[in-house]
Order: sequence, then C-alpha cells, then structure tokens
Amino acid sequence: MTKNLDRSRRESGARVASNDDTQRLIAASQRLAAEVSRMFASEPDIADRHYWLETMVNHIPDYIYAKDLEGRFLIANRATVIDNGFEDMQDLIGKTDYDLHPAEMVGHMAATERQVIETGKPIFGMEERAFVSKGYERWLMTSKVPLRNKQGATIGIVGVSRDISDRKKAERLLLGQARLLELIAKSTPLVDFFNELILMIEAHQPGIVGSILLLSPDGRHLMTGAAPGLDKAFSASVHGVAIGPKVGSCGTAAWRGEPVVVADILSDPLWEDVVDFVRPFGYRACWSTPIRSYQGKLLGTFALYSREVGLPSAEQNELISMAAHLAGIAIERRQSEERIQFMAHHDALTGLPNRVLFDERVASALQQARAAGQSVALAFLDLDNFKLINDTLGHHAGDELLRLVAARMLACVRKSDMIVRVGGDEFIILLTGLPPDSGIVTSRLEDIRTAIGAPLVLSGRSLQVSCSMGVVCYPDHGQTATELLANADAAMYRAKEVGRNNLQLFDAEMAKKAHERLLRHEELRDAVARGEFLLHYQPQMNLKTGRIFAAESLLRWQHPERGLVSPAEIIPLAEETGLIVPIGDWVLNEACRQNKAWQEAGLPPIVVSVNVSARQFRERNWVSRVAQALEESGLEARYLELELTESLIMQDVGAAIATMHELQALGVHLAIDDFGTGYSSLSALKSFPVRRLKIDRSFVQDIPGDDDDKAITGAIISLAQKLQIEVIAEGVETQAQVDFLRASGCHDVQGYFVSRPVTPAALAALLA
Ligand code: C2E
Ligand code: MG
Ligand code: MG
Repeated sequence: MTKNLDRSRRESGARVASNDDTQRLIAASQRLAAEVSRMFASEPDIADRHYWLETMVNHIPDYIYAKDLEGRFLIANRATVIDNGFEDMQDLIGKTDYDLHPAEMVGHMAATERQVIETGKPIFGMEERAFVSKGYERWLMTSKVPLRNKQGATIGIVGVSRDISDRKKAERLLLGQARLLELIAKSTPLVDFFNELILMIEAHQPGIVGSILLLSPDGRHLMTGAAPGLDKAFSASVHGVAIGPKVGSCGTAAWRGEPVVVADILSDPLWEDVVDFVRPFGYRACWSTPIRSYQGKLLGTFALYSREVGLPSAEQNELISMAAHLAGIAIERRQSEERIQFMAHHDALTGLPNRVLFDERVASALQQARAAGQSVALAFLDLDNFKLINDTLGHHAGDELLRLVAARMLACVRKSDMIVRVGGDEFIILLTGLPPDSGIVTSRLEDIRTAIGAPLVLSGRSLQVSCSMGVVCYPDHGQTATELLANADAAMYRAKEVGRNNLQLFDAEMAKKAHERLLRHEELRDAVARGEFLLHYQPQMNLKTGRIFAAESLLRWQHPERGLVSPAEIIPLAEETGLIVPIGDWVLNEACRQNKAWQEAGLPPIVVSVNVSARQFRERNWVSRVAQALEESGLEARYLELELTESLIMQDVGAAIATMHELQALGVHLAIDDFGTGYSSLSALKSFPVRRLKIDRSFVQDIPGDDDDKAITGAIISLAQKLQIEVIAEGVETQAQVDFLRASGCHDVQGYFVSRPVTPAALAALLA
C-alpha cells in the first residue's frame, strides 16, 4: 500500500513538490557517493569528516534541526530549509516557527519544545500535523531532545521529524473500514452506509467521486444506490439503466460480470451512445467493478469517476475492490435481514402474509376505515375436506392445492386487501375500503368461492374443492379485531354446521349460539371437575352360543338438572374444547377398573370395549396411557378392546397404523367402529391390525326392508371374512335383522335386541 501511495502521490496534485523531492534526493545521493569515494581514496581528515556528515544529514529526507532556548533555528538540514520555503540555510537561521507559520499552528509545537527545555527530558515518537502541507494533509513523527553545551546546560533542542503521512492514511482507511463494518453490524440503512463508504473513499482520494448502483429485482437494470458527490442530474439519468454490453462503465461491468475501466469517457466506445449527455458534467474517466455476494451473485456496481483522463492507480484499484467488497457484505446482510423479516411475516408455502402480519395490520385497517367512514369485511375461509385430499393424494398434492388456492384468491382481491394463511387450510380474507353496504361484500367473497371451486388438476387427477366461509363486517359486527374474529368464527361454525361449501354472514342468532356454546363449554368443564360422568355398558352377544362375550362402555353425564345426558351431546363439545382428553382418560380407566371388578366378583370374563376419539388418539403418550390404565386396574390386555373410527384412522393413515401396531403389541384388541360410513380404502384395510369391524347401525336399521342396505351389510360381512377379520353388527333391534345377519354369516350382534346400554350392576346381572 505504501508503495502505491507513493506512486499515487507522484501522480496527483501534490506531486510537483514530491517530484522535486525525488530529484533532489537523487542528486544528493549522487553527490554523496562521489564524496565518499573521493574521501576513501585518501586518508580523510577532520574537515572531510565534517563535510561528509553534513552531506549525509542533507541527504536524508527527514527534518533535522536545532533551535535555541527562544525557538530560533540554529542549524537545519536541507529538507527543513527547502520545505520551509528557503533555498539557503542562512535564510532560516535565527527565525522561529512563529516567523514562518500561523501562530495557531505553531502553539503546540512550541509548547513541547518548552517542555523539553524545562524538564531536560526528551520526547520520542510524537505524532503531529506538519506545517507544510505539500497539497495533502501531512503527518510527522517527531522526536525532540535537549541540546546541551559542554557543561551540560540545556541551550536549546534538537528535533528530528519523519513524514508518516502514508502510514496515517493507511490507518485512517483501516479505521474507516472498521467503522463501516460496525455500521453493517448495526443494520444501518443501506443508503446511509453507502454514503459513508463513498465519503470515506472520496476523502482518501481528493478529486475522485464514487457511485454505487444496485441491481434491480428483475436483475436487468441498475438503480441508484448512493452517489453523494456525483452530479444529481447525472445520477438521475443513470437510475434504471438497463445493463448491457455497451452501457457505459457500470452497465457494461454488470453485464460482463467483471471490472470495466474506461480511461476516457469521451473517446471510449462503451460511452459512445451517451457521450453528448455526459460531456457537460466534465467526468472523463470511470472505473467500475461488479459488487458481488459471497456466493458470487451480482448485486450491483461500484464506480469511481475522475475529471481527469487516465487509468486508476494501484491504490485506487485497491480502494475500488475494497469498497465493492464492503458494499457486497452490506447488501447481502440487508437482503438476508429482509428475508428473515419476510419469513417471520409470511407463510413459506404460499407466500401469503401470516397471522403475525395480520395482527400487526388489522388494527390500523380498522382505524382507517373508522376515519374514512368505510367498512371492512373479514372472512374466515376453510377448505372443505382438505384432509382427505392430503391423505389420499399425498402432502405434495396438498401443498400444491394450497398454493393454487392462494393464487386464485389473490387474483380476486385488490392490492389493498389482505389474504392471510393462518394455518393448515385456513385463511383470513380482509377486504378494506368498502362502502358501508354489505351486499357488495358477499358478492365479492362469493367470487372467491367460485374461483376456488373451479376445476383443477392435482397429481394428474382433475378435481374440485369447495370451501366454507364465516364473514363479518366492521363496524356492524364488532368494533375490535378480537370481537370481529370471534364473530367470524361463530359464522364459520354455522357454515360448517349447515354442511360446508357455503358462506355465512354473521348475525345475532349466531352470537347467541356462540354464547350458548361457550356456556356449555364451561358447564362441561365444571362437570369434569365435579366428576359427573358415569359409564353404561351394552352387551355384545354371539348368536350361535348365546354368550355375552363383550360389553361396550358408553359415556353418560349425570347432569344436576337435566338428568342423564347422552354422548351425542357431550362428545362433540368435549372434542371442541379438548376436554375429550381428560374425559377419555377417565373412561378408559373406569372401564378397565370395572371389568377387573366383574372378574374379581367371579363373573365370566368378558372384553370391555372403549370408544376412542381422534383427539385422544393423537395425544403423544396415548399408548403409554393405555398401558398405564391396564397396569393400574390389573386388567389383562386381552380383555380390552379399543374402538377407532375410519375417519380417525384416515386423518393420518401412516401415523395411525404405527400407533395401532404399538397398541397391538400391548396385547390390546382394536375394532373399527361405524364401519362403512368413512372413507377407508379397502386396500388400506388389509394393513390395519384390527380384530373386528363394527357394521354401522345405519346399514342395519333398514334391514330387511332396504335392499341396498342388505347388499352393503352382506358385502361388509364377506369382506371381513375374506380378510379374516371378525365382524359385529351394531344397532340390532329386531328378529328379522338377526335372521338376515345370521343368514349372511354374521353371528355377533350388539343392540336393543340383546340389551340397551345398562348400568354396571345390570350388566353384572346379565352376565351372571
Ligand atoms: P357408538 O360407539 O357407535 O355406540 C353405539 C351407540 O348406538 C350408542 O349410543 C348406543 O346407545 C346406540 N345403540 C346401541 N344399540 C342400539 C339400537 O339397537 N338402536 C339404537 N337406535 N341405538 C343403539 P350412545 O351411547 O348415545 O353413543 C353415541 C356415540 O357416542 C357412540 O357411538 C360413540 O361414538 C360415542 N361415545 C360414547 N361413549 C364414548 C366415549 O366414552 N368416548 C368417545 N370418544 N366416544 C363415545
Ligand atoms: Mg362404539
Ligand atoms: Mg358405532
């Protein structure tokens, strides 16, 4: 770097003086060499030695001088004489620095000299600004020692100063770089960082102007990044320029992906097309280099402009690559910050805003609407049967569907609207800037529903998806986001309730229902806390032997006012609230305990079957809970059967089969409840480790009148036989049903024909 600095100084404005220095040095060293050879030709005498010493001192480019107690020059070497503006030493002698330089500059130096004289102690290696600038800021490293006479009394000082401007400059550059890196670390806005970077380089290279251009997102244009010193009109004209093989220095550097050095803008073919435009600005040379990411991706360009024709010095080249490097780090860092920021606020799959961003924006959207007297519509949207698509066509297809749906929705809304993915297949649509009239809201949302419902091809299959929406309008249905979301949820609940594939606008009735639901949730919670549940048992009988071989445990709620409440009411509520988990645990433990108690009472051992809900089945430690229930009750695993539904298994077939195998390993039996009502594929059935299918009551109930039901029931029975799975018919009430089942080969039945669900005591009596 030092070498480069020397060279650049020779080439810059300050170079005339330096050139003289060099000439003088060359001449002096030639003289010195001549003198030395002359002296060694014969024995040197004192005078020779004195002359030799003087010549040597004059040969040195450092300043060497002595001053008296008043600061008057006593003697000085040639460099000191010349740089103080004299030709002859005699002209300098007797003068003080005050005679030569402005007093405010001299003060500090005079003070240090006084200190040396007063204390008699030398000062070594002190850094100070030089009086003589030579066209650039100069720094000296100075040492001063007391000058003493033969008696040892201080009679002045001797000073030696060396020019350390190069080192200072390099130091300043390093400090500048450190500061720039600090700015990057502090995430300073890019423009501020660029300005700082360019100003540092411009301070280092007087007369040179820096510019940073950034690659546009489409990768085809350059946009102004920063150019604090460049003419504004010139800068503006460069902004947005398309990169290409003949687009000035920067456009070409970006195009070629390599530095482009133009020594003379006015004659270089790369600038040919714009030369008349550039001419008045006076820029003559432009040296540009690509800014790249760590991986080498093009990010922009860094350029230096000079008003003089020429190539960059080695130092300037170094500055350019240093600046491009730092700019690259800063841009890359900003881009990754932006990516992180984006990821925190968007859904990775669809690119839609996520719940976090929605929460940030919704309040201000409402506030704006309030101020403008406008309306805002908020819709919850849920795809119908998304799980089914996910399970049957695979997650890949499911992801593709979500992306497709997102794109279709986006195509239906305006820029100011917002579509948010809140999870799984659930979205929020926020329509803003609406006139206060909800008619338009439903029609716009219906457009979205129609768009989603259009046929599509997924994994090579063409299909159609539908969705359900719950819609609220601000200000009619709520004032705050929380209120609106809760009401949209209630409307969505209604949409699902009436059979999906529809849109429900919130109304007061829904609010009432939602409120009631809330009350019922609370009531159920209390029931759990108070232990108001009990189990009834419904026997299962083999028609051939007439033996009761099992009993299904069925949940009942002993309500303080309403009496016995059926599970049809309890279970959905419990599933909604998650209370199904503690309730289900209780059922499992109670059924095991009861069965063991019957056995201990000496009754013939039977299997007790327990219904399992999807939510329970998905619990992480579900298998170990079953194991624990068996252990605590002391019931052998073979006396416990768990009833799973097809839909439970189909929610995640792979995971379900794995759990089923774990349960099987415990020795517990598994049955598929309500068989025939779900979607389980017959091929998958083979891989389920189940012992029993329970034919759903709905097929049995119209036997023998309904031919279809007879056919289905018959088919399930023969399917079970082929797969060597046991089969039992549920809801058997009549002799005619029994006759049909028996004839079809199904000998196990459960239903009122045998017994209604009864209390444990009643079941014990039946067993006995
Ligand atoms: P499920 O497992 O299919 O239970 C059979 C249901 O059919 C019982 O209704 C039973 O009383 C009824 N039933 C049995 N035989 C006949 C008949 O001949 N005719 C008619 N009309 N009905 C009959 P219940 O007790 O109301 O249970 C309804 C559903 O609630 C059960 O259907 C089961 O899915 C669920 N459930 C019951 N207890 C629990 C439980 O502890 N946990 C879970 N997760 N679900 C339960
Ligand atoms: Mg059941
Ligand atoms: Mg059933």
